[in-house]
Amino acid sequence: APHAAPAPAARSGVPGIDAIIAVASGKGGVGKSTTAVNLALGLQAMGLRVGVLDADIYGPSMPRLLHISGRPQSVTGRILKPMEGYGLKVMSMGFLVDEETPMIWRGPMVISALTQMLREVEWGALDVLVVDMPPGTGDAQLTMAQNVPLAGAIIVSTPQDLALIDARKGLAMFRKVDVPILGVIENMSYFVCPDCGGRHDIFGHGGARSEAGRIGVPFLGEVPLDMQIRETSDSGTPVVVTSPDSVHATVYKEIANRA
Ligand code: ADP
Repeated sequence: APHAAPAPAARSGVPGIDAIIAVASGKGGVGKSTTAVNLALGLQAMGLRVGVLDADIYGPSMPRLLHISGRPQSVTGRILKPMEGYGLKVMSMGFLVDEETPMIWRGPMVISALTQMLREVEWGALDVLVVDMPPGTGDAQLTMAQNVPLAGAIIVSTPQDLALIDARKGLAMFRKVDVPILGVIENMSYFVCPDCGGRHDIFGHGGARSEAGRIGVPFLGEVPLDMQIRETSDSGTPVVVTSPDSVHATVYKEIANRA
């Protein structure tokens, strides 16, 4: 069957934003949001003006990861001012609803909320907008990938086979809507024991790199499984800004450079 072209209107760009990049994963819990935040901060450290759009409507994590609370102010009419954290401009469903409010929306409402968070926000001039995609590769994700005018996508995966199979679905999803894959990041790639200095490949190692090679997309780097990354992520003090000279911050900055 002929390949249906995406509707041009849905793909139109956002004035002022040079490039929109999706960070995605085939399943939840692989560290996608943590990676998206540190990648955004790594891009900012390169001198770029960066925004973050939290597209995970059901499980927004940007308020926590960037330690931002409060509600966005409206500028005029429906247009909202983005929130700010560590110099990043940020929009998330988490700023618009209470944490206790369960989101029970169906697909079309999710799409319209996302469209609003993208197009009815005064982003100003940005070099890059990093979109933290919802986990998974279902219909909603596919529609989102299709509705956001993406310059490319980055896939985050752990080294396990299962996560890799899911990551493969993610790659297929973006290919389906003709979004170029900028590369694959292996998260929780290895663990260096703080006591003995020994290195342990808890979830195996190198799976994402070999998979990237096999399908011919760039491999952007390996992020270790580490207490500091977990703690700084969960406390809203991302490692790239709070310990900019640490080994981990350097890893993220190198990935930002390659992406
Ligand atoms: P996702 O967005 O894929 O659901 P998160 O970014 O929310 O994943 O991460 C899930 C959990 O794993 C969080 O508690 C986070 O702090 C932790 N985490 C993510 N990456 C790492 C890492 N490299 N080392 C240690 N903990 C990590």
